[in-house]
Amino acid sequence: MLIFWKGEKCRMNQRALEKVRENYRQLAAPSGLRLSEEDCIICGSFGGYQVIVHPTVNGSRAYYNTLTVEIAAKTSGDPISKQDWKLYTKEHKNVSSAVQNQYLIILVLKNIMKYDKLAEVLNEELQNLTSYLRLRGYENCCQFCGKTGEEASPCSVSGLCAQLCPDCFQNVSQNTLMAQQESRNTSENMVGGIVGALLGTLIGVVCIIVLSQLGYVAALSGVVMAVCTLKGYELLGKKLSVKGIVICCVLMTVMTYVGDRLDWAIVVARELELDFVSSYRLIPLLLQEQVLDSAVYWGNLVMVYLFLLLGAVPTVINILKDKKNEGKVSRL
Ligand SMILES: [Zn+2]
Repeated sequence: MLIFWKGEKCRMNQRALEKVRENYRQLAAPSGLRLSEEDCIICGSFGGYQVIVHPTVNGSRAYYNTLTVEIAAKTSGDPISKQDWKLYTKEHKNVSSAVQNQYLIILVLKNIMKYDKLAEVLNEELQNLTSYLRLRGYENCCQFCGKTGEEASPCSVSGLCAQLCPDCFQNVSQNTLMAQQESRNTSENMVGGIVGALLGTLIGVVCIIVLSQLGYVAALSGVVMAVCTLKGYELLGKKLSVKGIVICCVLMTVMTYVGDRLDWAIVVARELELDFVSSYRLIPLLLQEQVLDSAVYWGNLVMVYLFLLLGAVPTVINILKDKKNEGKVSRL
């Protein structure tokens, strides 16, 4: 895993983001680092090393008060062993883990709620780490190719950060451009996309039924429905355009209704000892005749739709935001 901080900004509203920026400016200043405002990444030179500091990410959550420090470096002498890093972690009470992943040294600090204290600890731990690296003969290098000498500097690649030498930066930029070109040239296969999306909705339907038979209406089924439908479209349609997203939304809406009705059909088949197909067909009549309580039926359907919205809206927003970040390459 070479690069893993993905700008969490897309999941935040403007006011929350402004607050984080303010706090992070406070963090950067005492150590003489700068904040890349757009990506909420702190970077700069410290003790002769280029460093990147960003929130720690676990799953899809970013922990703003648990900082991750990254330095890309290598030594001509004995590299620091796993054992040494373990010892290092033990000896520094504010460090919760220190590991090396090829050329990338990753330090995770303990969670500290107060930003002034956090800034102090960051400065202290940067000093400790850079002195330690200097002692072991480490030199800044490119995170990808390990080339030293030439100045590797922090870059943002499709919303991820990395310390790259000019060559690698150029390569990455070119590759990104080419990938973009390629994706622009691939035409969307709508029929394939619809088939894929339909297959995806089937998984969602199964999820609605299984969860409901277990006695739950859960947001989970909405998320599964949304993710599987959109991924299904992208997989078989080669590309997910805004048109594709609209088609997916229509399919999700229809199939959620079908899923809910199938779920009721199972109940009806069981209670009235009918076969499944007739049960499915009978539902409108049973509602009309008030054999099924229409308040319960429609109430349940509204719930399922609410959960679909709950699952689908963030999924669609994230896909759109990711698309926006895709192909953005810049020096921080
Ligand atoms: Zn390089």
